[in-house]
Amino acid sequence: MLSLASVLAESARRYPNKTAVVDGDLRVPYARLWQEARGFAAALRELGVRPGDAVALLAPNTVDFPRAYYGALALGAVVVPVHLLLTAGEAAYVLRDSGARLLICHTSQLAMGAAAAASAGVPVVTVGPAGPTNESTVDTTRLEDVGAPLAPLPTFESRQAEDPAVILYTSGTTGQSKGAVLTHLNLVMNTVVNIFDANDARPDDVVLGCLPLFHSFGQTVGMNGTFRLGATLVMLSRFSGPAAIELMLREGVNVFHGVPTMYVALAEAAAGYERLPRLRLCISGGASLPLAVLEKFNAAFETTIFEGYGLSETSPTATTNQPHFGTRAGTVGHAIWGVEVEIARAEIEERIELLPAGELGEIVIRGHNVFAGYLGRPEETARAIVDGWFRSGDLGTKDEQGFITIVDRKKDMIIRGGFNVYPREIEEVLARHPAIVQVAVIGVPDEAHGEEVWAVVVLDKDSSATEEELVEWSRERLGRHKYPRQVRFIDELPLGPSHKVLKRELRRMFAG
Ligand code: ATP
Repeated sequence: MLSLASVLAESARRYPNKTAVVDGDLRVPYARLWQEARGFAAALRELGVRPGDAVALLAPNTVDFPRAYYGALALGAVVVPVHLLLTAGEAAYVLRDSGARLLICHTSQLAMGAAAAASAGVPVVTVGPAGPTNESTVDTTRLEDVGAPLAPLPTFESRQAEDPAVILYTSGTTGQSKGAVLTHLNLVMNTVVNIFDANDARPDDVVLGCLPLFHSFGQTVGMNGTFRLGATLVMLSRFSGPAAIELMLREGVNVFHGVPTMYVALAEAAAGYERLPRLRLCISGGASLPLAVLEKFNAAFETTIFEGYGLSETSPTATTNQPHFGTRAGTVGHAIWGVEVEIARAEIEERIELLPAGELGEIVIRGHNVFAGYLGRPEETARAIVDGWFRSGDLGTKDEQGFITIVDRKKDMIIRGGFNVYPREIEEVLARHPAIVQVAVIGVPDEAHGEEVWAVVVLDKDSSATEEELVEWSRERLGRHKYPRQVRFIDELPLGPSHKVLKRELRRMFAG
């Protein structure tokens, strides 16, 4: 018997009066958060939700997210977080595909949520502040109102370790979006291993909650990890460098989890402040962290970033640089405790052939963090989990000491004139140019070479550089088959809901 709900329940028992969440001026202690979650659980039961049912949740980073998330878990329901930036049509697909009984929708998201729910024929219950958006024509019920006359559930419903706890929908870059089913065991283990084994987190930490909570990184590492410890999560629903710095200073934040674009934004904003937050622990994941960004950030904030790696399908953490165990900049560290990470021959799809240390291949993962499969998609699951190993779709190497280096995503690899070109290597080189703030390298169809290498760059607002200069900078540092022949300038790179650069969007913009 096991439940992810115990993450919050235990901290409520141990640290009832400690602040679990800071949300604007609101400070919510553990005991109150857990009581409110159990109140939501009673309300969901009243609405007909039963243990094992799927419940969709559409909410920004506010205290309402954990209230509803843990409310559903307390009842033994399965949480289906919905990306905030989906269109109503895409969200309706998630509601239908997951078989959600209802949608818990934050009042700020009603425009999209209500349209999606109406199209999927799913009832809506709202959480969050009542406001003008609540007066929409959609028929909604307030979860608090349903729960008001009911006693909160006394405790959480026990689940089997292998029962689903959360279904995370992939972003659908490789075909239809799929629901990755994560069990209580997957998520409890990843939560615990992350904080104790890898990240050296502590109960007196104050963590900035700026990664979206509907995404695996913000959910497991940010929210659940913080709650498991009894530490404090400071919610930030709209990230920008200055907003993050000001909130971190105000609340005494000492732990930051972010994707690389967030570190770029913080390093950029740092110059405008006389005093910066004292960050004890910084973790990066979700995309590769260029060394130039790491160095710039470390210099400004006088700290260091630990980089980790994972996917929604692996709860998410699979490897990380571990303060107690060994760290190396430019790598994503070692496999986390209890998880095996190896390199397999990428071209052989139907079976796993492991490669020796140092060889380049596909990263494969086995252990307590690997999901149960894609909901209702046995064929896709069978392609993803082969011989007991999860195929990540990422290319990388593992050295003799067990350090994993990510080379690139299989699907981002460019084949120019028959040679494999890994955009990440070129991005590292361009990120070192003094005028460049951010860069993404993509392959663009080309008659002569099959694909041509293009760089899309954001320049520092006080610097300038021409296309010729940047091509020359790359040509001096990279082999002839891989330096970018074209450079395009852009004000901002397109970012997905988790602030990762959307290469498919760049390819659409530049490759037609
Ligand atoms: P999708 O994979 O469907 O496009 P997504 O990016 O939202 O969507 P996630 O599961 O969040 O899906 O991301 C997992 C991917 O992020 C990994 O497969 C890998 O390519 C990339 N990634 C994660 N951490 C790192 C890292 N430290 N370095 C390089 N890439 C990373």
